Amino acid sequence: MTIRFDSPIFGPVHSRRLGTSLGINLLPHSGKVCNFDCIYCECGYNKDYKTTESVPSRKEVKEKLEKQLVTMKEQNNAPDVITFAGNGEPTLHPQFDDIIDDTIRLRDYYFPNAKICVLSNATRINKPSVFQALQKVDQNILKLDTVDWDFIQLVNRPSSNYSLDETIEKLKLFGDSCIIQTMFLKGFYEGKYIDNTAEKYVLPWIKVVKAINPERVMVYTIDRDTPDKDLVKASPEELDSIVDLLKKEGLQAEASY
Ligand code: SF4
Repeated sequence: MTIRFDSPIFGPVHSRRLGTSLGINLLPHSGKVCNFDCIYCECGYNKDYKTTESVPSRKEVKEKLEKQLVTMKEQNNAPDVITFAGNGEPTLHPQFDDIIDDTIRLRDYYFPNAKICVLSNATRINKPSVFQALQKVDQNILKLDTVDWDFIQLVNRPSSNYSLDETIEKLKLFGDSCIIQTMFLKGFYEGKYIDNTAEKYVLPWIKVVKAINPERVMVYTIDRDTPDKDLVKASPEELDSIVDLLKKEGLQAEASY
């Protein structure tokens, strides 16, 4: 079963990688909005979760976030992170940059030790306001599953205006103010075998990650149901050996199984 998150605030939830996380979903509750359509997406395929509902307004996000932070303060339940994630790509929200500024102000007031984290597919970092907003957050976690164009077409399935080369150049501008996250998985999609743990994918990807020089690299694998039912997890050994290769290149890296 795929999942849909409440909007605009969900949780707090416990995250494998982030700890106690208060979620902000800038997409509608009733569907999914993303300019990728990953075959492993826990929210399902775009075509199955179309929505005509509009995104939550900046005002609504601010008010509901503050309300939840007040409740958590009263309960003495501090979040480790306030995470932008949810039913699609958060940077597609037209007021993403203003919402980041509001969130920083509220975080500073209620829980100054909490980190602000954005999970993004990096498709909108060519937009100056998005780029600048992401530079303000504590954990700017950007997806780069591979640098193989055919794999991207098969697995991430971007909308038509996506440029891998441009994305990589912008990622290099972030450098150590970004964290790269990469999903490793195996299986079949439309009769084609998929395995980005293979050397053919890993070695060119490491070369690009080294050129980006991020703060660190998070490698992970499938954790929940995926819309394509023929996918399987990468093994802990495979993820560990990718982490070892990254570390040999002088990069900080960690795996979630
Ligand atoms: S980028 Fe994220 S939200 Fe978008 S389809 Fe892929 S996994 Fe789902």
